[in-house]
Amino acid sequence: MTKVQLCKGDITKLDVDAIVNAANESLLGGGGVDGAIHRAAGPELLEECRTLGGCPTGEARITKGHRLPAKHVIHAVGPVWRGGTANEDALLASAYRHSLNLAREHGLRSIAFPAISTGAYGFPKDRAARIAVTTVRDFVREYPDALDLVIFCCFDESCIKAHEEALSEIWPDRDQQTAA
Ligand code: ADP
Repeated sequence: MTKVQLCKGDITKLDVDAIVNAANESLLGGGGVDGAIHRAAGPELLEECRTLGGCPTGEARITKGHRLPAKHVIHAVGPVWRGGTANEDALLASAYRHSLNLAREHGLRSIAFPAISTGAYGFPKDRAARIAVTTVRDFVREYPDALDLVIFCCFDESCIKAHEEALSEIWPDRDQQTAA
């Protein structure tokens, strides 16, 4: 059974098998959560990312966590919001799905997501939260034994609210874990 937790705070502090980074296609760092992860992981993370040759939007790549408490970083590239007619919904779902599949393929048991694309990339928060929750729910139903814990890590109150609403609407029967 996979437990689901919603938490507020800095994803770089979480001691899980993988934290997901809201990266850009270069995988060479940026602002927001990407900048925070690279700062906390140290320069070895950028060195490893340089060997990957980038990542298309809607996909993800895995590295070690280096100086982070998390063992790995899964660098997912969400879409830039262009008004909703440029396949943004499917690309965001794909970024979540790729991340979950990478975790499963590497035998990882716990994963934490930030709200991908909802910062600099401008994706509407409620819509992004519904896509995040739906994609994780569908994965957990398909692979109920793959993961022990999925965390939605929100940095601000509007993100928490969007995920609370999405979780109770879309996945009321999830196995909840309250924050430690
Ligand atoms: P994107 O370019 O994909 O929009 P951002 O990093 O700008 O990525 O924002 C994605 C989300 O991550 C936003 O909701 C932002 O508030 C949040 N965020 C920023 N820093 C952190 C952090 N240290 N931990 C968790 N979430 C964060």
